[in-house]
Amino acid sequence: VVEAVRSRTDLVELVGRFLKLKKIGSRYVGLCPFHAEKTPSFNVNPQRGFFHCFGCQASGDAFTFLMKMEGKTFPEALEELAARAGVELPARQRSDPRARELRVRLLELLERAAGYYEQQLWGRAGEAGRAYLAERGLSEELARRFRLGFAPPGWDNLGAELRRQGGDPEDLLAVGLVLQGQRGGTYDAFRFRLMFPILGLDGKVHGFGARKLDPEDQGGKYINSAQSAVFDKGEMLYGLEQARAAIQQAGRAVLVEGYFDVLGLVAAGIEGVVAGCGTALTEGHARLLKRFCEQVVSMYDGDEAGQKAGLKAAEVLLQHDVAPYAVSLPPEHDPDTFVRAEGAERVLRLLAEARPTLEVIATRELARAGDDLEARGRGLRALLPMLAACQDGVRQGTYVRWLAERFRLSEADIRKALAARREARPREPARPSRTVAAAPTPLPVQELDVAVCLLVHPGLAAGEETEAVLRSFQCQPLGQALLEFLASGGQDGSAAAFIEAQPEWLRARLSEAMIQVEEAPLAELSEGIRKNFQRIRVDRLDVELEALQAQIDAAQARGDQVADLLRRKLGLNAQKKQLDPSFRGRQVR
Ligand SMILES: [Zn+2]
Repeated sequence: VVEAVRSRTDLVELVGRFLKLKKIGSRYVGLCPFHAEKTPSFNVNPQRGFFHCFGCQASGDAFTFLMKMEGKTFPEALEELAARAGVELPARQRSDPRARELRVRLLELLERAAGYYEQQLWGRAGEAGRAYLAERGLSEELARRFRLGFAPPGWDNLGAELRRQGGDPEDLLAVGLVLQGQRGGTYDAFRFRLMFPILGLDGKVHGFGARKLDPEDQGGKYINSAQSAVFDKGEMLYGLEQARAAIQQAGRAVLVEGYFDVLGLVAAGIEGVVAGCGTALTEGHARLLKRFCEQVVSMYDGDEAGQKAGLKAAEVLLQHDVAPYAVSLPPEHDPDTFVRAEGAERVLRLLAEARPTLEVIATRELARAGDDLEARGRGLRALLPMLAACQDGVRQGTYVRWLAERFRLSEADIRKALAARREARPREPARPSRTVAAAPTPLPVQELDVAVCLLVHPGLAAGEETEAVLRSFQCQPLGQALLEFLASGGQDGSAAAFIEAQPEWLRARLSEAMIQVEEAPLAELSEGIRKNFQRIRVDRLDVELEALQAQIDAAQARGDQVADLLRRKLGLNAQKKQLDPSFRGRQVR
C-alpha cells in the first residue's frame, strides 16, 4: 500500500503546494523550505519521486516531505497521501472510524469553547481579563493572534452555552471543559481565568492553559485542560503552531517555561518561541522539536528552579539528538520581565550568543567552585547525566574533551566517571539503542555510481559479476542493501523506497547523486557500470595485495617460509592483470 501511494503521488504537485518550483532539465528546483536561502538548492526528481536539498542535505520521498513540512507522523502522512491518491488503506492502517468521529466532535467543542472565551474577553464581561492583559503589556493584536480568551466567574457559563448549542454533555466531560459535580450535574472547569488556547499542528484548539485572575481563588495560579482523546500535555508545545515556520527557517527553536514568556517575546518581535504546557520538557516535546529543528535554545527563569529545569531539558533534548543551547537570565528575571526591562535588542543578542547548555552550566559551576576541589568535583558530576544522554558519539567526544580541559582532568578520568555512573544506576530505563556511526564507512565515488546505475536500471545487473562486485564494496551497508534490492527483483519505481530505507548519512549521499543523474542513454550507463565494476574489483585486489605483502614482510622478518604467500600473491596479480590489461604486475617493493 505504501508503495502504491508513493507511486501515485505527484511529488512536484505536492511540493508545489508549499513552494514555487521551476523546471530545469528533468528536475525541478526551488527555495528550500527547510533552511533559509536566497538561491534555490532544493531539487525534486519527479521520475524517482524524491527530493534533495544541496544546502541542508534534507532529502526523502513524499512521506518524508509531508512529515517535515507539516510535522505529521508517518501514519498521518500515509493517510493524507492515500486519500489524495485515491488509494484505499487496509483497515489496520486506518484509524478507528468511531475514534475519529469522537476526535472531530471534541475538536469542534474546543473550537466553540475558544470562540466563546474570546467573545467574553472582548465583550462587556471581559473587563478584568483586558485589564490584566494591559498590565502585562500585551496588545489586543497579539492577544487576538494567539486567540486569548476570558472565562467569566460563575459555575455554569460555558457548559450552559455549549449545551444550548447542542453539545453532548458526555463530550463536554470527556474533553475536560466541565467537571462532574458531587451531587450530579456539572460545572465549568475554568472560572474567572485568562484562557490560552493550545493549538495542535493541525491548527486546531486541543486544550487550554488558564491563569487565575481572582486573588481569592484557592486553585493553582495556572491550570491546564485535563488529558483527553485530543490533548496530551506531554505531546504539545504552546506556541508551536504559530512559531513553526520561523523555527524551520532559523533551524532553531527558543524554549521558555510559561505562556506569558512566549507572548512577551513574540510581542517584542522575537519569533520561534515555544513553551511546555505546564510541564517540564518531555520526550514527546523533544521528538516534536526534532521534526522542525536541530537546535533548541532554552531561556528559563534566572532562579535556581529555572536552572534545574534547563539542565533537565538539555538532557531530554540530547537523548533525541537535538543540540541544547542556553541563555542565562539574571536571577530576578523570567524571559517576559527581562524583555520588557531590557528590550528586544538585548534578547536577540543573547540568543545570537547562546552557548551549548553544557558550556553554560560548566562555566557557572567552575566560577562558583573557585579553587575548592570538592566543589569542582560536584560541579563535574552534575554534568554527567548530560554526557550520558548524548546519543551522538561525536558530540559526546567533544563534550568530554572540552570538560577535561576546563576541569583539568584527563578524558579517561571523565569517561571512567561516566562508566561508574552507568554501573551505579542499572535501573535506568533502557533507551532505544541508536548507534550513530562516528565515522561512517567510506563511500568511494565508483561505488556510489554503481548504486545509482543499478537503482535507475536494475536490469543492468549482470548476474554473478554484479554479486561479486557488491560483495567487495568498501561501503558494505550499501553493497548488502543493493544485493537485497536486486534479489527482491528491484523494480524501477522502488528506488525512492530504497533510498528512504538507508541510514541518514547514506541517504543524503544517494539522493544527491540520484538527483544529478540525467537520463543518460542506456548504452552509456552500461559502459559506465562496466568500467566501475572493474575499478572496484581492482581496488579490492589492491587492498588484498597490500595486506598480503604485509604478511610476507612479517614472515620474512621472522625467517619463516613464504612460498605459499608468494603463490597467493602471484594469483592475485594474475587476477588483477586479467581485469586490467594495462596492469603490468606492479612491483610491491
Ligand atoms: Zn535546504
